[in-house]
Amino acid sequence: MEWLLAISFGEIFLKGKNRNTFYKTAINNIKRNIKDIGYEDMYVESSKLYIKADRPKFDRLKKEIKKVFGISYIAEVIKTEKDLEVLSKSVIDLVEFYYGDQAKTFKVESKRTDKSFPLISPQLSSKIGGVVLKNKKNLSVDVHKPDFVISIDIKAHAYVYIVREEGLGGLPIGSSGSGLLLLSGGIDSPVAGFLMAKRGMEINALHFHSYPFTSKRAHQKAMDLARLLSAYTGEMTVYSINLAEIYKAISQNCPRRDTTILSRRFMMRIASKLAKDYGYQSLITGESLGQVASQTIESVSVINEATDLPILRPLIAMDKKDIIDISVNIDTYEKAIEPYDDCCSIFAPANPVTKPKLEFIKKSEENLDIEKLEEDAIKSMEIIKIS
Ligand code: ATP
Ligand code: MG
Repeated sequence: MEWLLAISFGEIFLKGKNRNTFYKTAINNIKRNIKDIGYEDMYVESSKLYIKADRPKFDRLKKEIKKVFGISYIAEVIKTEKDLEVLSKSVIDLVEFYYGDQAKTFKVESKRTDKSFPLISPQLSSKIGGVVLKNKKNLSVDVHKPDFVISIDIKAHAYVYIVREEGLGGLPIGSSGSGLLLLSGGIDSPVAGFLMAKRGMEINALHFHSYPFTSKRAHQKAMDLARLLSAYTGEMTVYSINLAEIYKAISQNCPRRDTTILSRRFMMRIASKLAKDYGYQSLITGESLGQVASQTIESVSVINEATDLPILRPLIAMDKKDIIDISVNIDTYEKAIEPYDDCCSIFAPANPVTKPKLEFIKKSEENLDIEKLEEDAIKSMEIIKIS
């Protein structure tokens, strides 16, 4: 049997002239995700993508392919001939492979894309159904609730499959504009990036570190998270900026309890500047209402005031437990819980202000040369391509 994986895309979203771009991006991301696992061949036939590979690799391949948004399902297919006898034999082999004598009921669904094939779809289904009944005495047809469905696609070649799995859904990357993700080393921000990417947003990331107050490993951890996230987002640029001097200036010149909110406003101003320079349309954070002192509605308002770009907070109404569940599912959890210090935890005040007032925060900021501090911070920027 010649085994392949067949990938079907959610056609609804693939409209007009964008369709080809989406296909290309999706296929590039699939290639990127499976290049380390390896495969023999890949081609498109009548809007499905086919990947030929050793069957033992199928589970690993499917796991990585499923990380690409816009896929409606993946099927394990066998490629066979458009000859009724050969086709029938392939169907029997396939039923035998998955079920032996285990299942009781089935039905056949056919789709004839090649209109020169002599049988129309219902005729083909009933012919093949008849052959299965004759060869597998344990089986009977149930069109309403069958144990399994045999699907036949007649195209340039004939394909048969029984097992298919749903894709992740979502919209193809690039169909919903772009956002700059504020990526810490924590659990929340990668999940926030994932959720926005799932809505079709192109994601690039900005990480603030505080070397030498934080370690090189903390920085590496954020880069590792970006790499894990890029299985979903595709290629990504990570901007990395040193915030150490800014933290120092805040701790020397401002009330300690304002540290967190002041540093967040710095982050937003710097992020806005980068977003505007590089053409990203929004900022994304992993904030969740009430999770910590800096995530009250008062803090959210004071943080928002630092930028005129929209700040997207996909986790704002989510419980930590649900965020963790997503993080586990998307494979970022294990990395996120590694214990390297974040700048925010080192400089975090014991009693942070929980209901900051904009006028007092602005008073605190008067003690700082904001423009100079930001300029210097941006000079420290490193740009890392996650390809
Ligand atoms: P996370 O798990 O994402 O670190 P958190 O629960 O620790 O979030 P905070 O530390 O209050 O929450 O951070 C809130 C959000 O601010 C983060 O989700 C992230 O988007 C942004 N942020 C915090 N620290 C950094 C950083 N060092 N670099 C970039 N963004 C950051
Ligand atoms: Mg954090």
